[in-house]
Amino acid sequence: MADKHILLSNDDGIDAFGLQVMEEALAGIPGIRTTTVAPASQQSATSRCMTLHEPLRVKSRGDHRWSVSGTPTDTVLVALGKILVDDLPDFVLSGINHGPNLGEDVHYSGTVAAAMEGCIQGIPAASISLADWCPSDFSAVAAFLRRMLPAIIAEPLPRGTMWNINVPNGSESSIKGVKITRQGSRHYYDVVNELEDPRGRPLVWIAGKGPKWAEVEGSDYAAVRDGYVSMTPLMTDLTDHRAITAAMHLTADGLPGDPVLSDDHEQFVLSKRDPMGLTFDGPTRGENAPPPSDSGLGETR
Ligand code: MN
Repeated sequence: MADKHILLSNDDGIDAFGLQVMEEALAGIPGIRTTTVAPASQQSATSRCMTLHEPLRVKSRGDHRWSVSGTPTDTVLVALGKILVDDLPDFVLSGINHGPNLGEDVHYSGTVAAAMEGCIQGIPAASISLADWCPSDFSAVAAFLRRMLPAIIAEPLPRGTMWNINVPNGSESSIKGVKITRQGSRHYYDVVNELEDPRGRPLVWIAGKGPKWAEVEGSDYAAVRDGYVSMTPLMTDLTDHRAITAAMHLTADGLPGDPVLSDDHEQFVLSKRDPMGLTFDGPTRGENAPPPSDSGLGETR
């Protein structure tokens, strides 16, 4: 059987220790080959950011290794759309992040974002993090990858779902086990800090203390706190399917009330169509409004 081709990426950058650990850990698994396409620089907390307004530079950084001067999402887009277009990967693996990706932090995480991009494009994917704010011992996470990744690849999640994995800091023998978990919930406090620049002018700096964790049964946080590896299936579909039913009554009678916008003074219509929406001449009022045209949403697939 042909080797499984795994695309490796991260958000800590091509030179990060965690990425090198992941490359070495996977090099010890038979039946697997890897290509690394990672950001050229530190991109933590860039979330699902994508670079649309400037070009990106792609550099060879060794055998089957590339850096891209963009975000984690950019790297996966460039890998799938250019570098590996004739040799598409069977799996996208993002990490090993230097720090946890638990609870709501998954929304801000560049590590999760790179895996999510693979997932959105229909390729099974996982993000993996060393769940310690002061990461030092990557042995447990390296061992986890070598022992568990073949099983994860052999049994893919449904399309649109990816694994978010957090492994405690420490040695291989320190792992108590593996738990399938749900996303937990945390709260940071004192997030916006006031300070002064050297000229005495006020600044703010976003740097939360904490976090404090909610007690959520079976959460990602609880598993890691108790010394277990946490594996959380995350979905690209953010819909709350319970809320669809619960909110049905809001729309039962359509838009409530009588018309409220007057034709003469309250038509909020852009006077110029611009595909990127970067120029804005202000709303055109009343009779100067352009005639209605196609939806502008493009083709229906
Ligand atoms: Mn990071």
